[in-house]
Amino acid sequence: MTANSYRSAIVDLLTDPMQLALDLDHAEGLVGQIEDVLDADGWDIRRKESDHAQWPAPKVIFATRTGIRNELVVGVIVERYTVNGRGCVWAEMPCCDRHAKLPMEVHAEFAVRCLPCRMEYAAWLIDENDGGYLAVFKVLDDPSLIWSQRRRTAKHPR
Ligand SMILES: [Zn+2]
Repeated sequence: MTANSYRSAIVDLLTDPMQLALDLDHAEGLVGQIEDVLDADGWDIRRKESDHAQWPAPKVIFATRTGIRNELVVGVIVERYTVNGRGCVWAEMPCCDRHAKLPMEVHAEFAVRCLPCRMEYAAWLIDENDGGYLAVFKVLDDPSLIWSQRRRTAKHPR
């Protein structure tokens, strides 16, 4: 829908033979005049933002849930428990039983890649205020895309 898509709906009302039954030119002219009046009075006609409907809140998989490999699609957020190391934190990977080594820093985002699973994540730590951290992974890459790229490369070697 364009910015002025309401115009034709109003013109339909004005030309409705059961209502004012204006001719088309007259009706369109009247809509233009109404818009001019609103504009002169400082009103701005805009469509409502529908971003919230188009972009639902990301799915979050909590740390207590495992075996989620087939739920890992782009944008999904996965929380995982961690074990503290020396200046680092070991976090369970969302995709398998491997562990990611993250610097022990909050307010920082890290790129994490699991090569065997062909998964990429943005990861960050949440300080749980009990000496431990919760790792949060956001799925960045769709593994099926990487597969298709590989196939294409294999077909056309340089
Ligand atoms: Zn993995």
